[in-house]
Amino acid sequence: MTVATADGQPETPVSLTTARRLVVKIGSALLVDEASGAIRQDWLATLAADIAACRQAGQQVVLVSSGAVAVGREHLGLRGRPLKLEEKQAAAATGQIRLAHAYQDCLARHGITVAQVLLTLDDTEARRRHLNGRATIDQLLTLGAVPVINENDTVTTVEIRFGDNDRLAARVAQMISADTLVLLSDVDGLYTGDPRRDPDARRIPVVRELTPDIEAMAAPAPPGHSSGGMVTKLAAARIAMGAGCRMAIAMGRTPHPLRALGNGGSCTWFLPAAEPLTARKRWIAGSLQPFGTLTIDDGAVAALKRGKSLLPAGVVAVAGSFERGDPVSVADRSGHEVARGLSAYSAEDAGRIAGHRSGEIAAILGFRGRSEMIHRDDLVLTGG
Ligand code: GLU
Repeated sequence: MTVATADGQPETPVSLTTARRLVVKIGSALLVDEASGAIRQDWLATLAADIAACRQAGQQVVLVSSGAVAVGREHLGLRGRPLKLEEKQAAAATGQIRLAHAYQDCLARHGITVAQVLLTLDDTEARRRHLNGRATIDQLLTLGAVPVINENDTVTTVEIRFGDNDRLAARVAQMISADTLVLLSDVDGLYTGDPRRDPDARRIPVVRELTPDIEAMAAPAPPGHSSGGMVTKLAAARIAMGAGCRMAIAMGRTPHPLRALGNGGSCTWFLPAAEPLTARKRWIAGSLQPFGTLTIDDGAVAALKRGKSLLPAGVVAVAGSFERGDPVSVADRSGHEVARGLSAYSAEDAGRIAGHRSGEIAAILGFRGRSEMIHRDDLVLTGG
């Protein structure tokens, strides 16, 4: 789709086909038949075919799927009434296996391996686990698998709310620097009013900024409805846009929902101002307070300026108290800050491997950690 902006800005091509790293969120209402509690296998097969086509086109795909509670409650005889938290958790534990199995089956038909990743929102927000989650999902994508992610509902301490996966999907997109997030939904975008009640409601094709006017368009989900409604979708849009990731709300009920979107199907695109890596680096440089300092030699300073990662060999001193994933300042020998980044090692381990070649890490620490002290994606130059 090519869109012209109301304020006469140049036309911007917006299309699913330009996505390189794509996160797709699938809601319970799409995946699970409300009457029977069964997985809608025919629809899922069309989604799997679309995912295979995306991968054929060289796109990386990550799925965030709901539906564990909806599938599981059937098998535990918990249908037809509201569930208590522990009942939902029990239902999720039962349903998640079936869900994973369904994805495994339908993607295996296209020769695609799936990997189950269960996260809590905390994992995507706390920096330490953030770095681990990012590395694992990166690795899965490198190895050609499709991660299928859901919230780890059995250990969550807060109420399991439908719609939370909208936010989880946006956090995942942020965590892995995805460039595109698609929320497959039971509506084809954001409307100026509730299209179920207001015949004059118009769909907004493109949103570039979440203004109060836009926020006011989000109607809460009707009671009993399994979708989180627009409120959580706009919350997701806020996270995604802040992370430099564009986001679409698109109709998922019909067969081949990604193909339809790729062919210019109706939706709402939320377009960020920056690219994902730029947004991530801004976050690292600006909003995080360093927990310590790594002092590095002149060779390492020069390497960082050429866009390289920081290797342990270039580190001459470690100060402060930090854990793996914490933000640290990087200074030259005269104490002048040259960069900031997320350390792949705790202060203690960093001190032990400082000055050593990456090949020696395993022998010194007793485990094989990252080759880099700070990976270049987690590093931003700050000095002049
Ligand atoms: N994690 C929940 C489930 O799999 C759903 C959360 C949501 O729909 O947003 O049932």
